[in-house]
Amino acid sequence: MDKFKHKHSLGQNFLKDKGCLIKIIDSCKVEEDDLVIEIGPGQGALTKYLKLYNAQLLCFEIDLDTKKYLDKFEDEKTKVIYQDFMSSDVKSILSEYKYNNLYIIANLPYYITTPILKKIIDDKINAKEMVLMVQEEVADRFSAQPGTKDYGAVTVYLNYYYEVSKLFKVGRNSFDPAPNVDSAVIKMVKRDNKQSVDEEKLFTLVKDSFQMKRKNLRNNLRSYDLEKIDSILAKYDLSLNNRAEDVSLDCFIEIANSL
Ligand code: SAM
Repeated sequence: MDKFKHKHSLGQNFLKDKGCLIKIIDSCKVEEDDLVIEIGPGQGALTKYLKLYNAQLLCFEIDLDTKKYLDKFEDEKTKVIYQDFMSSDVKSILSEYKYNNLYIIANLPYYITTPILKKIIDDKINAKEMVLMVQEEVADRFSAQPGTKDYGAVTVYLNYYYEVSKLFKVGRNSFDPAPNVDSAVIKMVKRDNKQSVDEEKLFTLVKDSFQMKRKNLRNNLRSYDLEKIDSILAKYDLSLNNRAEDVSLDCFIEIANSL
């Protein structure tokens, strides 16, 4: 087979560490009547292991040059769709499938990590769990706790829909070619008991609160009813002098509900 030319622009860093691939598939309990989506199978390093679940497997790959590597994986349970995941009508493709739970397991193309997650949420793709390889720095941001420097608007947004945890670090040399950054695998478990809140109001409040990260809430939320916000912050041992990075998801929800 001709030597494959990796496309840096498509985030093509292929995983070559067998131990890491096994740890990824061991982190989800997928059953035969479930469906797994893989975004970006590349040459099939992870696909080969995902097939061990014997569940249905649906892969989205943008690069047709990978077809010669992926053809061998296709059968009655495994399908590869050669199209941009970002512009795919995933909901309508899923409507052709019968399955119990949906999982998304992928070594993501890093240039579109957040847009992919936003699409999964906006399109209501409803994955029960996701296990994703992302840049380590991004993993730290997504799974950050309030009161830490990594905690930001994207942390609150993702954690409203999914409980995000960092599973393990993966060094850059586990990939071919090695990227310039280390990676980490995160797990995202869908929250079935989300608190009721006007989501638009919540995320506008969160965006405004984090607008200028170094400023406190009093400064960032000038146009809001500060007295009301202060009384809720007090319940969480916080005040308007705190910064947004100190405010938990529950506290943001309570504030949004009071406005
Ligand atoms: N899963 C393989 C592995 O672990 O070795 C490859 C992972 S590589 C980090 C990311 C893959 O995503 C590449 O194969 C790339 O071509 C593909 N990709 C990039 N952008 C994409 C998009 N918008 N839709 C679908 N696949 C995409």
